[in-house]
Amino acid sequence: MGQIFEINIKTNRRFELVDITSDINNVIKEAATTDGVAFIFIPHTTAGIIINEHADPSVKTDILSQLSKLVPDNGHYQHLEGNADAHIKSALVGNSISVIIEDGRLVLGTWQGIFFAEFDGPRRRKALIKIIKG
Ligand code: ZN
Repeated sequence: MGQIFEINIKTNRRFELVDITSDINNVIKEAATTDGVAFIFIPHTTAGIIINEHADPSVKTDILSQLSKLVPDNGHYQHLEGNADAHIKSALVGNSISVIIEDGRLVLGTWQGIFFAEFDGPRRRKALIKIIKG
């Protein structure tokens, strides 16, 4: 049976995009994988994962502020836990990504990074990684 790797993430704000690209590269190194696919899954209902620009930090700010315009933090919702917006944002951005591994590294575009998307922090969170070799 194959191994599932885990990355622990501590978020500091209610909404936050945390760059986890280097953590995932470290997992690939630890797994000694040269070629294959990394499947990254977020096991939370109020968080998600996205690939986007990690060169200019204002892109992160824009993504979070526009998501909050689409899904207002204090809108009228049926779910009364106070985090209905976080569940909807999680559903919009999605909970998993797959990334190609080549020569022991993630294959990403020049400006791309992988972000854990927190929508109801601060909390302790995790990302699960399954590596399929080949
Ligand atoms: Zn809830």
